[in-house]
Amino acid sequence: MRKDFWKNIPIEKLTREEWEALCDGCGKCCLIKLQKDKLLAPIYTSVACEFLNLKSCRCTVYSSRVKKKKDCLVLTPDNLQQMVEWLPNSCSYRLVHEKKDLPDWHYLNKKNQKSVHISGNSVQNLAISEIFVAEEDLEDFIVKY
Ligand code: SF4
Ligand code: SF4
Repeated sequence: MRKDFWKNIPIEKLTREEWEALCDGCGKCCLIKLQKDKLLAPIYTSVACEFLNLKSCRCTVYSSRVKKKKDCLVLTPDNLQQMVEWLPNSCSYRLVHEKKDLPDWHYLNKKNQKSVHISGNSVQNLAISEIFVAEEDLEDFIVKY
């Protein structure tokens, strides 16, 4: 990967490896969101997709996620513009799209894959799996991200 690629290279020119490496592994995009009106921003809940590993905050079915989860959000450089409002403010893709730098705790800065958890910026120990929550109770799990 090229040095400081997220600062120096336009998003559409990133290699596949660089694009994937941008993800901080927070797991926030795998939380269920509510949207009361199409014109309003989505509201986060602490209820996670059934396929999210709640300890590592990684998808357990990553290579087949589209087949396994029909509303899984698959980000690409081409759809980032349309999807950006569904991403949390801390999301690296959102930050780069908004021409902002990655936070200090991002592993690309810290060189430690666990820094997202250690700094309290992942959903580790904060999320509950959707298999334990009824759809009508989702509003009880609203959080701000
Ligand atoms: S919110 Fe962004 S940075 Fe965090 S896991 Fe999802 S895609 Fe990666
Ligand atoms: S299937 Fe999609 S939403 Fe579910 S954990 Fe995997 S990436 Fe996240």
